[in-house]
Amino acid sequence: MAQWEIVIGLETHTQLTTASKIFSGSSTAFGAAPNTQASVVDLAMPGALPVMNIGAVERAVKFGLAIGAKINQRSIFARKNYFYPDLPKGYQISQFETPIVQGGGLTITLDDGTTKFIELTRAHLEEDAGKSVHEQFDSESGVDLNRAGTPLLEIVTEPVMRSGKEAIAYAKTLHNLVRYLDICDGNMQEGSFRCDVNVSVRPMGQKEFGTRREIKNLNSFKFMQQAIDYEVRWQIEQIEDGKKIVQATVLFNPDTGETRAMRSKEDAMDYRYFPDPDLPPLVVSDEMLARIKAGMPELPEAKCSRFSSQYGLSHYDALLLSQDGATASYFETAVNSGADAKLVANWILGEVSATLNREDKTIEQSPVNAVRLSNLVARISDGTISHKIAKTVFEALWSGEAASVDAVIESKGLKQISDSGAIEKIVDEVLEKSAAQIADYKAGKEKALMSIVGMVMKASQGKANPAQVNDIVRRKLA
Ligand code: ADP
Ligand code: MG
Repeated sequence: MAQWEIVIGLETHTQLTTASKIFSGSSTAFGAAPNTQASVVDLAMPGALPVMNIGAVERAVKFGLAIGAKINQRSIFARKNYFYPDLPKGYQISQFETPIVQGGGLTITLDDGTTKFIELTRAHLEEDAGKSVHEQFDSESGVDLNRAGTPLLEIVTEPVMRSGKEAIAYAKTLHNLVRYLDICDGNMQEGSFRCDVNVSVRPMGQKEFGTRREIKNLNSFKFMQQAIDYEVRWQIEQIEDGKKIVQATVLFNPDTGETRAMRSKEDAMDYRYFPDPDLPPLVVSDEMLARIKAGMPELPEAKCSRFSSQYGLSHYDALLLSQDGATASYFETAVNSGADAKLVANWILGEVSATLNREDKTIEQSPVNAVRLSNLVARISDGTISHKIAKTVFEALWSGEAASVDAVIESKGLKQISDSGAIEKIVDEVLEKSAAQIADYKAGKEKALMSIVGMVMKASQGKANPAQVNDIVRRKLA
């Protein structure tokens, strides 16, 4: 493996969040009964003409601005011709020579904290095809045209990624960005975000790229990683066995974890692209460009630096909190409700994330909302409860045992004991039974003090103020 370099480029189909299709007024809602959302345009009835959906154009421009790309204010729609049952027109309307978005790029951060700029080639608008349905029928196939004409933005990178990890990091960063911009819902199960991964290998140090194979339609990050790992190993084995890689389109089978060629370059289609005479050049006016620019949300990178400067967070914490819009807004809502920012950050990245992961929930589905977390953190800051007790309160809130932080503290009697007289009494009781530890401490074993503090905390059922316990024990032993 070490003698081989991996080269990866991605093509991602993102479904844009318009209510209606790219060239017709039919709904784009997912899950309707077959063919109930297909108008004469989507069905390719003779004489039916496409009309551009401005919402799709705006979303493409928004994306282009976010990645620092060139917006082609005049772009062309082309017909990509091929024959398939789910494509009633016999061609797909796409953009070929002049896409609406050109160049630009995204910065990815890898697990070890290193960053890399991934150059994009282009992003173009196109319509989705329908779907062939095989499951319900014996010896027949059905065609569902609800998806036909759904607006897609196909986002293409340069072949600049050098590992599966970089490819996954890029796909995740892009996934976050399109949701941030609110141009795609990112639902991978429903096919709103699908990646084609082009993979090749070459001997370390070789200038020319190797021949690539394209893994089609990966709809989860896990599958993407598995497919790349398998494909890379397979290609290296082929070459080391003296065989040549043949350019091909391959499919990943999640059940076997293998990729298999669907078609090779020899039988690749000639799409006979040509400009679509039904659609005039797409013009983005200066006014439209200015309006979209003015409405741009704060982007993840800007948010990350603001989080670290405004709230004094480490770069890493700021990055984790700003990566997706929902987490970022949860964090800021909690801080704006009055809690200490660093504590809130720790709680979100610690207890909240861990519990969400365990229950496979998103932060929007968290039973403990941002305001409640803020109240909880405020009660730690004002000394009402300790960190440890706060976890108990958090669990109670999560399971819905009580509606508010104070109600949980009250009903469970969890209030921290900060009355020094009361703490002193518990300390005295513990010291009476701790002759051995006291002797150890006096002999210079600092650890013995911690064990006494531990016993006091336990005797107070975790409610004594730990800092005070520490002071009092130390003073009494001195
Ligand atoms: P096509 O349109 O036929 O799929 P492109 O040249 O537009 O071909 O490339 C598609 C994708 O493949 C791009 O993301 C590009 O970065 C990637 N790519 C091109 N050559 C290679 C290669 N040798 N190895 C890996 N990826 C590649
Ligand atoms: Mg391709």
